[in-house]
Parts: sequence; C-alpha cells; structure tokens
Amino acid sequence: MTAKKNEAQIPAMLKKARALPQTPRMAWQFGVKRLRLWVWDDEQDRAERPYSMLVMELYPRGNVITNLLASPVGTYPNPIDALYMLLKQMVDPAEDEKLQRPVQISFIDEKLLEYCREPLVSIGIEVVKLTEATGVEDYITKFSNKLIERGRASRGDAAERPGVHKGVGIQRHALEQYFSACKDFYSSNPWRRIDEVCAIEAEWLKGGEKRYVTVLGSSDRTYGVAVMGSIQALRRKYARASGTYDVEKDIEANMLCGNCGKEPTAETFRCTGCRTLFYCDQECQRGNWNQHQYECEDPSKLEHVTREVWNKREQTMVFLDPSAVPFDDLEYAEVNKFWDAQSSKFPLIFVSIQGSPMLPPRVVRPTPEELEWMTQLISALLQT
Ligand SMILES: [Zn+2]
Ligand SMILES: [Zn+2]
Repeated sequence: MTAKKNEAQIPAMLKKARALPQTPRMAWQFGVKRLRLWVWDDEQDRAERPYSMLVMELYPRGNVITNLLASPVGTYPNPIDALYMLLKQMVDPAEDEKLQRPVQISFIDEKLLEYCREPLVSIGIEVVKLTEATGVEDYITKFSNKLIERGRASRGDAAERPGVHKGVGIQRHALEQYFSACKDFYSSNPWRRIDEVCAIEAEWLKGGEKRYVTVLGSSDRTYGVAVMGSIQALRRKYARASGTYDVEKDIEANMLCGNCGKEPTAETFRCTGCRTLFYCDQECQRGNWNQHQYECEDPSKLEHVTREVWNKREQTMVFLDPSAVPFDDLEYAEVNKFWDAQSSKFPLIFVSIQGSPMLPPRVVRPTPEELEWMTQLISALLQT
C-alpha cells in the first residue's frame, strides 16, 4: 500500500461515503497496535515488529471488523493510510460486510485523529478521542499467535519475560544511566582493546569482595560484559567453551556442605541418593535429612536447593538483536528514548544464579544494586 496512490483516491472515496446510509448509533474505533512477534524484512535484511491497523466496531457488534499490517514493516502507519483504510471499510468492505457509514469514529492516537478529523467531519461523522477499547489486546494476541502458527512470524524464547524496569526498586534514572553507559561502551569498540581471555579484578559494592570481569567479543560474536564471582567460575566458563570441562572435578572443587555451608575438606562426601548435595560429615547429613529426604528423590526440587546452598549470582550484559530481547524491555527503552536501534544492539542485562554445576542456572533480572554496579563498571571499562 503506497500512501501517495491512496491519497489520490481519497476525494472520490469521500464523495462515495457521503452518499452511504448512516446506521444509527454505529460507532467505530481506529487503533494501531504493535504485534508481539517478529517478521523477517528482506529489504532491510533484519527482523522487524509490524504495526497492525485495526478498525473495531464498538457499537453495535463490539468486535474488530478489519485489520491490516502497516507498510513498510516496522514503521508506524502513515495517517493517509489510516484514512484510506477507514473509507475503504465504508465504500468497499469485505464481501460479508455492508456498505455503511458510522455516526462516530474514535481514535486512540492524537496525530491520526488530527489528520482524519476534517475529512471525516465533512462527511457527517463525529470524531472523538477515546482510550483503547477492551478486546483489542485479546484480538492482537490471537492474531499474533495465528501468524506464528502459520510460520509467517516468530517470537524469541525470552520474548514474554518481564522487563528489567519491573524489578523491585529499579528507578528510571538508574536505567537512563545504564543505557547511556552501554551506548558509549558499544561505540568505543572495547572488544578490540580488551581481549576476552583477560579477566579484570573489580571490587564489589560491599568492601573487600572481589569480582572478575571479562569483556566479551574479541573471540566470539557475543559482545558485552560478563561478571564472575570467582576465578573458578571463570575457569569453568572457558573450560566449557573449549570443551575441556570436567563437571565431576568442578563439583569436587566447589561443593559447599548442604547443611552448614562450609567449604569442602578431605572428609566431605556426597549424598549417594541424589549425588548432588555434599556433607562435611555424618552429623551434617543427619542434621539435614528431615529436609533433604523429600528433595533427594526429586531433581526439580534439588535445583532450588543447590541454588540456596551455592547461590552464586553472575551479572551479564550482552548486546543482542532486538528479536532476542523481551518485548517489555524493548517497549520501555523505546518509550523512554533510552535506546535507539541505529546506534547499537540492545544492551540486555540479566543475572544467572548458579547452583550445582550439574544443574542449569536460573536467569533473573538484576537488583537495583547490581544494575548500579554494572553501570559503574561499564563506565569504568570505557576509561581503560
Ligand atoms: Zn556441614
Ligand atoms: Zn540426596
């Protein structure tokens, strides 16, 4: 659909529409919604989130009567296309719809309303601003799922996860600083200066604690910053990457007592039931048995338990294609103008909580302290 071609047809459509019978009290709403999915745009050679333009019949039927993806993909609809779509619905609707002219059309978007007001009023339609009607969100969800089922669009695994701004105590200005630091970091190409295999020692917020920081990107195509709690954790990461990782050795070197949390000694032994928890001695095992007997048989419970015991939080910021980022994060950053797709990939921040190395880590969003520390770290890395 090209706006110019549509614009040329509008005067004739208005004339036709004016002659149509007006259905008493019939009210429509014009809305624009961004779909929660990605389609591949060949022209731009990247994934884009399409906008859907919808006409909802608020009265009498209360449902969406037509919808159309805005073009080009990923661009907010042109007001000419909005007016064209509304007029087409009156003078040239789908086969099962009547030719008719509503009494009122409401808009959610002020700019589209301003553009369409005069022509619509000139054909006897009242134009008002209203908030989005109920049912639109549901319609969009169903429509998105249908496109995905038909293989015409996709959604990343992380797409529906809650955004970083939803975390307890996370402040807007902290995120503003975070995004700004990441943008500078990205454009400074730190992966050209700092080799991925060198770890930088940094002080954690609370005095004395150390963290080990690596800049990702010199050897891999993942760009960002990873923070580890210990040298062992760092070794584990590289051993895993190079295929020399020995999980048994790692476990023996890292197991803390499942009862008292002490470091392993020569006497430390493994629970023969689950082979996942370790104990200093018989006393510690007995002391923990009331609790552990239920977990011992059920690996899903153990995941939680080993995280409690080892509870190692590792902070990561990676630059990702938007299609791999939760919609929540993208929308927040776009609305607040914290991130612009032209200047960098999206800086996603997350924390993985590692329990036993035998079990996969759980991924969560950072606490306010972690976000602040990461921002300071990224700014500091710019100076190196
Ligand atoms: Zn113990
Ligand atoms: Zn056990």
